[in-house]
Amino acid sequence: MKKISIIVPCYNEEEALPYFFRETSEVLRNMDQTDYELIFVNDGSSDKTLEMLHRFAEEDSHAFYISFSRNFGKEAAMYAGFCNASGDYIAVMDADLQDPPSLLPKMKQILDSGQYDSVATRRETRKGEPRVRSWFAHKFYQIINKVSDADIVDGARDFRLMKREMVDAILAMNEYNRFSKGIFGWIGFRTYWLPYENVERVAGDTKWSFWKLFRYAIDGIVNFSQTPLVMASWLGFIMTFIAFCMIIFIVVRKLIFGDPVAGWASTMCVIILIGGLQLFCMGIMGQYIAKTYMEAKKRPHYIASESNIRSATLIR
Ligand code: UDP
Ligand code: MG
Repeated sequence: MKKISIIVPCYNEEEALPYFFRETSEVLRNMDQTDYELIFVNDGSSDKTLEMLHRFAEEDSHAFYISFSRNFGKEAAMYAGFCNASGDYIAVMDADLQDPPSLLPKMKQILDSGQYDSVATRRETRKGEPRVRSWFAHKFYQIINKVSDADIVDGARDFRLMKREMVDAILAMNEYNRFSKGIFGWIGFRTYWLPYENVERVAGDTKWSFWKLFRYAIDGIVNFSQTPLVMASWLGFIMTFIAFCMIIFIVVRKLIFGDPVAGWASTMCVIILIGGLQLFCMGIMGQYIAKTYMEAKKRPHYIASESNIRSATLIR
């Protein structure tokens, strides 16, 4: 009998959680030859999420929770789940039922067949999402796939059922700046892609504003690619080359035509342009240095204050 662990990051999900718990438990209970556990990770919610998790744990021996000391973000919540999951197959699911539990039996079947190490889901459409957001999302995937060697699929969700071996590989990547879509793509393994129609959240609001997503996208690129640094060097090289040509041109012109005082405006333009480019490139370097700084500190990914899992890893 195989055991499935479902990891559920929850941040202020009191409205959606009861639906999620009911529906997912029902699907898992009805799967044959399957044991399961639900690991809820309370990511510093300020509503009644934690009380709800206490209640689930009392009512149902399959329900477990880990509660963070503050909000550490979804990436940290997923990491905590992976650290504490004991199943043979492990999945991450959003608490808002945007990841349909009805797909689980099919996903398990595919893993059981032994041909794949993970079954990942991909939204076919971005129906119900603002146009601008979809446009930026598509551009992001185009860019990151060009500049990084991790294979990152457009529309891929974090919802995937993975074998133990794959989760061990994910845990072995213990970088502080985590970008799961990149990590999943980077570690490899044989992945089956399961497309499905986008579903809207059952209750509550999305936790992602446009700017939060934008920052996440930039982080993703900086975490999984050195191309911006290379681009900055090339830009510097090209500018130096142009400047060299200009110097030759100006010296030759002076030797032939003398030195009429003119060209203040154009000089200023060039100075401002080059100054701007220098700051831009320093900004790119700054992004990488900031990441290195955080990695060098070796801070824990998360700190949990309580859990009902025996021998839970509370700090890691
Ligand atoms: N989440 C979290 N910590 C955060 C933000 C979100 O654990 O700081 C959880 C949230 O509770 C949900 C999942 O991550 O279970 C996805 O969030 P959401 O549904 O808001 O994102 P969307 O589906 O809109 O991308
Ligand atoms: Mg959602």
